[in-house]
Amino acid sequence: MICFPMTVDGAALPAQAVFDVLDPATEEVFAQAPACTPAQLDLAFEAAARAAGAWAADPAARRDLLRAAAGAVSAARDELAVLLATEQGKPVRAAAFEVDQHALWLRESAALPLAEEILQDDGTAVAALVRRPLGVVAAITPWNYPILLAGWKLGPALVAGNTVVLKPSPYTPVATLRLGELLAGVLPPGVVNVISGPDPLGAAMTAHPAVAKISFTGSVRTGVAVARAAAAGMKRLTLELGGNDAAIVLDDVAPEAIAKSLFWAAFTNCGQICAGIKRLYVPERLHDPLVEALVAVASRARVGPATDERSRIGPLNNRTQFERVAALVEEAVTAGARVAVGGLAPARPGYFYAPTVLTGAREGMRVVDEEQFGPVLPVLTYREVDEAVARANAGPFGLSGSVWGGDAARAESVARRLECGTAFVNDHLTVAPHLPFGGWKMSGLGVENGPWGLDQFTQPQVVYRRRG
Ligand code: NAD
Repeated sequence: MICFPMTVDGAALPAQAVFDVLDPATEEVFAQAPACTPAQLDLAFEAAARAAGAWAADPAARRDLLRAAAGAVSAARDELAVLLATEQGKPVRAAAFEVDQHALWLRESAALPLAEEILQDDGTAVAALVRRPLGVVAAITPWNYPILLAGWKLGPALVAGNTVVLKPSPYTPVATLRLGELLAGVLPPGVVNVISGPDPLGAAMTAHPAVAKISFTGSVRTGVAVARAAAAGMKRLTLELGGNDAAIVLDDVAPEAIAKSLFWAAFTNCGQICAGIKRLYVPERLHDPLVEALVAVASRARVGPATDERSRIGPLNNRTQFERVAALVEEAVTAGARVAVGGLAPARPGYFYAPTVLTGAREGMRVVDEEQFGPVLPVLTYREVDEAVARANAGPFGLSGSVWGGDAARAESVARRLECGTAFVNDHLTVAPHLPFGGWKMSGLGVENGPWGLDQFTQPQVVYRRRG
């Protein structure tokens, strides 16, 4: 049975207890992972705190070591991809891409600017802005993109001079534990520590007094609990939370030209993507041809186990998620929505749910108003663009949104009215190390990526030297 150890202080920490990890395609146990004890949690934070001083001292060495870490991850790409695909459910090709993205983020983070800035230099004084590391970062990731999001946190946290204790979701700890071993082969002891365990381990991390900063990605509900925990110690905080992204299709576009892009922006990772399309607003005239085009794409998208090379969409990650998606669709259908394609798959092992396009859904149904986080796309009609924008902006989320149109300038002027962290035009889902990513409203606090994300792993200090 696969069981990678936790990595603390550069070495394997022997497990005192373990928990099971399921393959969502079979519902069978495929691995076990260590359940971190309270004493082991202290060891992890002590190691991170001990390593912090030396790590903060030499920025050039940090950049070199981050590039070396990226190399070690890339060299283990195939192994990590199979572990990730098996525990998460995504096709191996997509898992390999996720590993590549992790390595890319480490490499790009190594190049982020850390130089001091002179804010004032005159007869009165010289004032310099120095970016000091915060200390120990608690990094917590969800089960949908554990390796990608570990890269989003590790890269900037480390280059800024912090040390990290990283905890993946108990649904998907395996690839991250292996990542911890790989990073320990390159980085000094204690700089990255990886622990695992069922909750309340996450809460114990956020409450730990050694933590200077919490970088959290997960649900809104947990994010609120994390913010409360952070407040008690005034810990620095970045929250990347849920979304319910709207896409607005304008009337000057050919449905068959955009159907494939819309489909994959909604159904990548079996819809388990925080910033994927969750609601599609379409002019009445284009509704039927667009639904027809989406159904055609959905019918060709092969659903199957992650490890089958032909699969483009895997199962949902876990039973709770599977039951939630099934319940939301069933509830919508009872209230008058229709399944144009998909719906509950015939009973078989695994949390498979076919890509589902819903028509006749409307606001007031939970599948439209809440984050359903599954392979379901409700198609809603609108009459006026202003109305579509108002409906897209309604609700508590604001992660991203998109507008699709033949006249790109017109589409952009509509996109600029969306209330969300990223407003796309004829695109959706794109993320990149140089683009700040974050949510408005309940979708988050702060941003990740680029110099803006780096700022959130540093403490600005003004060094003000009076002249004369
Ligand atoms: P979740 O909130 O249940 O869990 C996320 C992580 O928090 C897990 O590691 C979990 O063990 C840990 N955790 C649980 N309780 C905790 C507590 N009290 N304190 C600290 N940590 C705790 O989320 P999930 O179900 O794993 O992931 C799905 C959610 O993540 C969705 O809402 C999705 O939108 C969101 N997400 C957001 C982004 C983004 O960048 N905005 C990216 C991916 C996923």
